[in-house]
Amino acid sequence: MDRYLDSDIKFVSGVGEMRARLLEKELGIRTLGDMLGHYPFRYVDRTKIYRISEIDDTAPTLVQLRARVTGRAYAGEGRKRRLSVFVSDPTGSAELVWFQGIKWIEKRIEVGREYLVFGRPSFYRNELSFVHPEIETMEQALSRKAESGMQGIYSSTERLSSVLGAKGLYQIVCNTWALAAGRIAEPLPDALRAQYGLLTLRDALYNIHFPQSPELLRQAQYRLKFDELLGIQLNIQTRRAARLAKNNGFLFPKVGGVFNTFYNEKLPFPLTGAQKRVIKEIRQDTVTGFQMNRLLQGDVGSGKTLVALMSMLLAVDNGYQACMMAPTEILARQHFATIGRMLEGMPVRVAVLTGASNARERRAALAGIADGSVDILIGTHALIEDCVRFSNLGFVVIDEQHRFGVEQRARLWTKNEQPPHILVMTATPIPRTLAMTLYGDLDVSVIDELPPGRRPIRTVHYTDAARLRLFGFMRQQIAKGRQVYVVYPLIEESEATDYKDLTDGYEAISRDFPLPQYVTAVCHGRMKPADKEESMRQFKSGEAQILVATSVIEVGVDVPNATVMVIESAERFGLSQLHQLRGRVGRGGEQSYCILMSGEKLSKESRARLEAMCETNDGFRLAELDLKLRGAGDINGTQQSGMAFDLKIANPTLDVQILTLTREAAAALLGADPALAAPEHAGLRELRRRYSRRDEIDFSMIS
Ligand code: ADP
Ligand code: MG
Repeated sequence: MDRYLDSDIKFVSGVGEMRARLLEKELGIRTLGDMLGHYPFRYVDRTKIYRISEIDDTAPTLVQLRARVTGRAYAGEGRKRRLSVFVSDPTGSAELVWFQGIKWIEKRIEVGREYLVFGRPSFYRNELSFVHPEIETMEQALSRKAESGMQGIYSSTERLSSVLGAKGLYQIVCNTWALAAGRIAEPLPDALRAQYGLLTLRDALYNIHFPQSPELLRQAQYRLKFDELLGIQLNIQTRRAARLAKNNGFLFPKVGGVFNTFYNEKLPFPLTGAQKRVIKEIRQDTVTGFQMNRLLQGDVGSGKTLVALMSMLLAVDNGYQACMMAPTEILARQHFATIGRMLEGMPVRVAVLTGASNARERRAALAGIADGSVDILIGTHALIEDCVRFSNLGFVVIDEQHRFGVEQRARLWTKNEQPPHILVMTATPIPRTLAMTLYGDLDVSVIDELPPGRRPIRTVHYTDAARLRLFGFMRQQIAKGRQVYVVYPLIEESEATDYKDLTDGYEAISRDFPLPQYVTAVCHGRMKPADKEESMRQFKSGEAQILVATSVIEVGVDVPNATVMVIESAERFGLSQLHQLRGRVGRGGEQSYCILMSGEKLSKESRARLEAMCETNDGFRLAELDLKLRGAGDINGTQQSGMAFDLKIANPTLDVQILTLTREAAAALLGADPALAAPEHAGLRELRRRYSRRDEIDFSMIS
């Protein structure tokens, strides 16, 4: 294949050594191909020129206007220096502001002259202003070639923009194109392109950067998404075939004493139909000889832990060890406690290992799993440290798997030579096809039924003005013997202020609950693990009626007697996080409540999120809504954190149709040529390779 696109970006005119280093550091762009793969994240219509009086809150984020410079002024000194340029058109005036590159702008601004100004409008004290807009004289603007009027906007970093200027990246893309246009190899066979009506890669890249029409832009996006999703599908399907061909899964033929004793004597309640079905699916997987790789989805509170436990008992019955990894210390400890309690009196040894384990606990766990005397190990990602050696690990459960980083997930698989069966569990409901794409080569089970007797949680939204009412309500519930969570946001960047919010809240609550029998426990990420654990113990045992916490309790925590979840600054949480938090209550038979507290002023999206929470308890519906809400602002969906694959343009949640087509296409291609060995499949092979790297379930690491 032509490797020209792998050439160093420094050879593009206008780049050079220094800028090449910067491009790599800031955007990870090293080659011509990388640069062409840096797609615009948005396009603006450069044919529309706004009048100043037309610009208000409803204007798009970037607008263009034609205005005459009426004057300029300087303010501040040294690093704080700023240049203000005043402009007007027949309908009004605006201020353009620069904090950087002032010298460069000064030289280009002439009072009395007309300019085309392009930038993000903002209002400061009712005055329209633009910070660091692009400007060009009308002559320059008119000489620019018209094309379709759509110009790509590229994501950049502050550092890069300050070096390259507003237009710099666009210019580099133009120059890269000039070098590379004739050297873009086509990875897809002609027949495939014809079948799915796809542009050539060259035309797609051209139109993604320089759209010749809205229709061509759409086709370009379609083609590039197709490539990404096809690459993933080829990869997943190849891997699946390899896994099944290996036929090296552990066999759990027996349903033995441990499982049966638990089922007949220890089970605190009858299993739901959905729990039974999933346990059966898992059981079937473990007698086939193939290694199981299963995703279990079930809304919060649907009883996934029990399914996990019973599956682990199957392993134990067949002489294997099992382990369960949870994303937080609190959750790991909780699983250890509940599972330990449920297995009381049974010949199953359970141990726990977390980052906070003391030397004794650690030694006991490590020795026990190495010599095989521990049957079930529960812990955090401490489980994947190198010193953890199982004697015969046969079954792995990963709880709330969306919370783990890709590398963390990958390392568990390498724990023994023969791969254990793997059950990953998540409460984030996503459609099945999507799950397969996001998480790779998985079978999917769904718990679509809550344990009986659950009453729907009532959710209300209060503003701060209703705080007294809130306290009154909390008191009422506590008087009935219930318990209350009060949760504060914790966002890393502003940890200090969040911490202050939480401690202030804690004090206010301690003040407002002066009755001596009300105990408030507190739990946040800055506390020592032992203190966190003590707080959780107080709350779980009922010693404390109120738990003031940050979202460290978001996942998994299970205290059925708690019936009130108060979420402070609820507007700062995402929808799925709110839903997870709400899932901490409504776990017993009592009516539960979720109270979303927020300020008066809310953005449109925040309001929509809070309203959705009040409307429904259904995690699937909320997930859909979340996609819609987020989809609007984030068309290309490039920010899919935690995903197994590095997608630049496809968004599997929105591009479901393309996803389905690529699944079919991949199946047909691999059916005809499993190794993609035919010469015309060289490009496909490359595509498959490109999307194999970040996948969390890399079986090549095992064999
Ligand atoms: P999640 O799926 O969110 O992890 P959990 O496993 O924590 O849910 O279970 C939620 C609560 O429901 C727990 O208190 C658990 O004991 C209870 N539970 C689980 N299965 C059943 C069942 N079949 N009947 C009644 N309660 C159940
Ligand atoms: Mg759970």
